[in-house]
Amino acid sequence: MNENESEQTAGILRSQGAQPCSHAEDSDIIIINTCAVREKPVEKLFSLLGRLQHIKKKNNACIGVTGCVAQLFKNEISQRNQSVDFVVGPDNLWKIPEIISSLSQSSSCIIHTPRNRQWREIEPIARKNHISGYVSVMKGCNHFCTYCVVPFAKGREKYRPLPYIKAEIKDLAEKGFKEIHLLGQNVNSYQDPESGKDFVSLLKEISPIKGIEWIRFITSHPKNFTSDIIKTMAETEKICHQLHLPIQSGSDAILRYMGRGYTRQQYLEKIGLLKENMPDISLSTDIIVGFPKETEKDFSETLSVLKQVQYTNIFSFRYSKRPHTAALKYTEEVPFEIKKQRLIQLQELQRRIQLKANQSLIGTQMKVLCMGKSTKNQNSYFGRNEGFQVVNFESASDVTGKFVTLEITDCGPYSLIGRT
Ligand code: SAH
Ligand code: SF4
Repeated sequence: MNENESEQTAGILRSQGAQPCSHAEDSDIIIINTCAVREKPVEKLFSLLGRLQHIKKKNNACIGVTGCVAQLFKNEISQRNQSVDFVVGPDNLWKIPEIISSLSQSSSCIIHTPRNRQWREIEPIARKNHISGYVSVMKGCNHFCTYCVVPFAKGREKYRPLPYIKAEIKDLAEKGFKEIHLLGQNVNSYQDPESGKDFVSLLKEISPIKGIEWIRFITSHPKNFTSDIIKTMAETEKICHQLHLPIQSGSDAILRYMGRGYTRQQYLEKIGLLKENMPDISLSTDIIVGFPKETEKDFSETLSVLKQVQYTNIFSFRYSKRPHTAALKYTEEVPFEIKKQRLIQLQELQRRIQLKANQSLIGTQMKVLCMGKSTKNQNSYFGRNEGFQVVNFESASDVTGKFVTLEITDCGPYSLIGRT
């Protein structure tokens, strides 16, 4: 989502005549888009700002900060760092050109972070890749999981009108894109503001768009991930048999403290239904280790979920305290060393699961969308299979942007190697 917002910001600037620079040293405008989901984002921002000082001095470059850190820490940013010219929240990217134009009249940092209750279209989007496109369908979140800062940074859910979504996908198809990713913090709760059409209707309306061959979406919340969505995924040719369904913890007690709104059993029932309807489905998840009160037993329940589900991939994090969140009231913190150990143990287990699963793919054939040349050597390319796994391969001709059928010849835990 942040990458998509960076592409939107670049699009806005380009529409006003700005050109991208190949070297930061040459730039007149530098915008740092930020994420506040996990620990120390402000420190990271200040360290980057420090490293950009020389460009500011050399070119008198204007420096802006956007994204969730901008929204949450606007005052701290403007007070602590004199080189920041503007701070703009995630709802206000469209305002950037106007702010840049007014900078000469203002010696102090301009802060613009009001909340937008309605969806606001931003175009054009300067896309980094021309094969696989991000399409935003909603923003914000109404869930308020007790550890998460997103609802405070991005605000309540706002849904993009269906006609805009369809128009963007048609445009991508005409430009030759082969794949789209529908984006939102909680895509399942999508509702067209005009017609009230839900996420299933959205999937059904976009799937006939010619040219787009693979459709993916992220992120789904297990609480409102319905059997209707599963049925639609199974029945609709273009929807990839791939799903990111964050569980966060395998322990019911921890899920309750996290305010996730489902039990381990309910989550696993949905996984069962997914596998029943799509035996080839590739699943991934997010896990937080060391949430307050997490015991060894709670943690072992998370490990057992990994063994049971056999995810293709996981994204795992040590719990970090975030401002405004309800979990700040839990005083029973897990010591840093234990969190660290648990993360290592979790990732090691998952590494073994992935290696074994990937080894079982050796000798099989699969369809891969080639995303481009890899830096290794002249004829090396990389792509993604339907399960969203990276596949590296060699090809005598340039197949960037094309689907190729590969035979898997080797693998590691995190990627596959194939041949044409
Ligand atoms: N909307 C998505 C996730 C958004 S944040 C969902 O509900 O699944 C992405 C991931 O960051 C979360 O799934 C969670 O695993 C992690 N995360 C969020 N807050 C965190 C925190 N305070 N500490 C550690 N990880 C966190
Ligand atoms: Fe954060 Fe929970 Fe919303 Fe995901 S669903 S963005 S984890 S509050």
